Amino acid sequence: MKNQIFKTLLVSGIFLSHAFFLYGQNAQEKDNIQKVLEEAWNDTKSVAGGKNADYIPYLANVPSGLFGIVTVTTDGKIYKTGNSDYEFGIESISKVFVLALAMQTVHPDTIQKNIGVNATGMPFNSVIAIELEGKSPVSPIVNAGAMATNSLIKGETREEQFDKILKYFSKIANRPLHVISELYQSEAATNMHNRAIAMLLASYGHMWADPLDACDSYTKQCSVGITAEDLAMMGSFLANGGIHPVTKERILKEEYVPKVLAVMSMEGLYQNTGDWMYTVGLPAKSGVGGGILAIVPGKMAIAVFAPPLDEAGNSVKAQKAIAFMAKKLGFNIYQP
Ligand code: GLU
Repeated sequence: MKNQIFKTLLVSGIFLSHAFFLYGQNAQEKDNIQKVLEEAWNDTKSVAGGKNADYIPYLANVPSGLFGIVTVTTDGKIYKTGNSDYEFGIESISKVFVLALAMQTVHPDTIQKNIGVNATGMPFNSVIAIELEGKSPVSPIVNAGAMATNSLIKGETREEQFDKILKYFSKIANRPLHVISELYQSEAATNMHNRAIAMLLASYGHMWADPLDACDSYTKQCSVGITAEDLAMMGSFLANGGIHPVTKERILKEEYVPKVLAVMSMEGLYQNTGDWMYTVGLPAKSGVGGGILAIVPGKMAIAVFAPPLDEAGNSVKAQKAIAFMAKKLGFNIYQP
């Protein structure tokens, strides 16, 4: 009897100490991520250099000093600091999500064959890249390939086609998103270069809808307003094998996730992607609205927003902040 009581006490003791240990570890990890976020913010906040994109007039007028960092972990926790709730244009980062949406209906092999999954090593709106690569768009996340990918999303009407994209974005952001109409108008009035690319692609047989409709839908997808928190939330399924860590919904087939990440690793920071992967080692995508999304497979999505861009179009502060966090937390996909 005494023995039995002793055993029971011992087992519950071990259980309790284990529970406290795990609780302590979780709390410590939580504190640590928040601490690193704040350190990254403080370390980067006074970094000068870069300027807002101005080829789209709306973007030139976004306050340059805004700076926010958010992470969503694969267990659905959110950490944030700075201007995490300012709504900015998703721009090029939308290309990653439209690619994931296209993979619901078009096999990744078909995307590889008809659009391409290579690096252009050139600016995001390069026409030369199309010509040099055998008259093909090269990558789903440069302008040419993104418009071609957009044209793979089908709808009965133009409205229904774009609505599919917006609904998908809203689902992964876990809140209803909308197009910033002032931004859309600003882009639509100045997107002749993209319209020319769309027509060129159509002439080479790489458009699966009316090219100008695809360009317009693409312009709208770029004008969707998101906060840094939305962006981290949207990217979190890519860190979690395709399952959204907050809603628990499967967003993308598990075996397609590495393909999206590979495309990001190849072309995510435009012609500076090689430098980025060499120094930071995380698949990422930037947009000329000032956002960068980086994915740490199995761990978290990191989203940073700060409008001033370098020559290639990548947010200067966002690159620094993500590099800081990756180093502190030991994140690099090439390092076990
Ligand atoms: N809407 C922008 C464009 O097509 C997106 C560019 C970007 O963010 O890289 O020029």
